[in-house]
Amino acid sequence: MTTRHDCEALDAQDPLARLREQFALPAGTIYLDGNSLGVLPATTAARVHDVVTREWGADLITSWNKAGWIHLPQRVGDKIGRLIGARPGETLAADSTSVNLYKVLSAALEIVGRDAPPARQRIVSERHNFPTDLYIAQSLAAQHGFTLELVEPDEIAAQIDERLAVLMLTQVNYRTGRVHDMAAVTRAAHECGALTVWDLAHSAGAIPVDLNAAEADFAVGCGYKYLNGGPGAPAFLWVHRRHLERMDREQLWQPLSGWMGHAAPFEFGPDYRPAPGIARFACGTPSALALGALECGVDTVLAAEPLGGMAALRRKSLALTGLFIRLVEERCTGHGLELVTPRDEALRGSQVSFARAEGGYAIVQALIERGVIGDFRAPDVLRFGFTPLYLRFADVWDAVEQLRQVLETGQWREARFNVKAAVT
Ligand SMILES: *Cc1c(COP(=O)(O)O)cnc(C)c1O
Repeated sequence: MTTRHDCEALDAQDPLARLREQFALPAGTIYLDGNSLGVLPATTAARVHDVVTREWGADLITSWNKAGWIHLPQRVGDKIGRLIGARPGETLAADSTSVNLYKVLSAALEIVGRDAPPARQRIVSERHNFPTDLYIAQSLAAQHGFTLELVEPDEIAAQIDERLAVLMLTQVNYRTGRVHDMAAVTRAAHECGALTVWDLAHSAGAIPVDLNAAEADFAVGCGYKYLNGGPGAPAFLWVHRRHLERMDREQLWQPLSGWMGHAAPFEFGPDYRPAPGIARFACGTPSALALGALECGVDTVLAAEPLGGMAALRRKSLALTGLFIRLVEERCTGHGLELVTPRDEALRGSQVSFARAEGGYAIVQALIERGVIGDFRAPDVLRFGFTPLYLRFADVWDAVEQLRQVLETGQWREARFNVKAAVT
């Protein structure tokens, strides 16, 4: 049996332990929800204060040039790019994940349509993909005459055939934490002439990603989860060089052809002309406040680079999730928790989910009252995210102890834990 003392020993040997100092964590809270909203970096409040008072308050509009506000989408994008195997100039920080997906999925459909007109009619995705991804794909499919086919993860390989236009997948499933093999799936899609769009919402800053090594086509991802960019932080998008070059050559647009993606926005001409490269994927004016906060968040992940970077974070993440699974199975037996996340490390993201037939929401509420913050995903999943930047092995032990007490006492049955809030 693992003891709390064993966990403290793991913390004492942890080469990443000091990365925790980068965060302003509330005392007495064990935060297992960094996969939904990352914690506040210690630098963010001062940075936002500076953007507000000096860059905006004192320097006013001159800050677009003087403080480089206009370059933030590409500068912050390139920093995110270091975490996902992108080269400089391939990543843009902008808009929301949903909006970025609209832009890149449109571009992918346009490119496929040019190469193989009516034959390829299908967009394929996972039935339990994050809903906004499916809703965006439904809209584009309806507009452009494609069908959206939704399948279980094990059925994807069988869907890769000459009817497939675009395979749109989230690399790490938000509910189960299951990981797709990006390189293998992309290769299979390319062999049959289709393109891939990857959502990295639960990958960027969570697991090592190498978009260029996988020869992926398009990707999007989220700024407020593992990148710690703050509530509603700008998202990002990435496009492979071969598509950027082709879009340049053939003067292809992405559909949200706003002025910030124009080749010369300050000529104020009446006709749209796309900017070269990734810049064409911008639409409207970027938020300097939000991008300043996002940069602070991304820097907390980049701070792991001298300590082994994403590979080192991944090792610790797997150790944390493995410990959590083991402790729950040792200490919470007989309480109906069923592991949903793969046991196989190669298939496990940076989260652990358990299904329970009854009371999942209330159990999470009771844990939150005890200072252990996880979340609930309908209909029956208790979800716990593990962020190796700031979580300790002893935190895992303490979280499981609280879960054990909530289950053993039946405290979760109390009425106050069974009232649904607007956000779960
Ligand atoms: C969190 C998440 C999103 C969020 O999209 P927004 O546009 O930021 O609301 C999208 N896709 C996936 C897979 C997610 O996990």
